[in-house]
Amino acid sequence: MTHKFVGKIPDILEDKVLYISMEYETVIHKCACGCGNEIVTPLSPADWSLTFNGETISLKPSIGNWSLDCKSHYWITNNKVKWSYKWSTDEIEKVKVSDLEAKKEHFEKINTKPKELENKGEDKKSLFEKIKTWFK
Ligand SMILES: [Zn+2]
Repeated sequence: MTHKFVGKIPDILEDKVLYISMEYETVIHKCACGCGNEIVTPLSPADWSLTFNGETISLKPSIGNWSLDCKSHYWITNNKVKWSYKWSTDEIEKVKVSDLEAKKEHFEKINTKPKELENKGEDKKSLFEKIKTWFK
């Protein structure tokens, strides 16, 4: 990656460029995976800190784009992108898939059970209680 010190953040960002605005105390760049999302990393003691050694920059802590589809997670150290361990991405996918499957199962139960339970008021109620808990 390269970096540019800017006053204002440009409207159109180039790939593989870190835009550093001291005025806005922010670093912004396009996601290193190439998905095109703009990643904003505010500079503050509670957010990210920037190290500039005169030639290259480093950002700490790592950049984890959990809210994006790509789920990218990487460090930027001396203008180089260092990707996080692959397993963490897989782990997220696993969680997502099992969560979806669990939800699907629940919906199937909801759609099929009530008829069977029509004559069993109490079971119906307890199932309803369970469903309420699942979706909390
Ligand atoms: Zn991405």
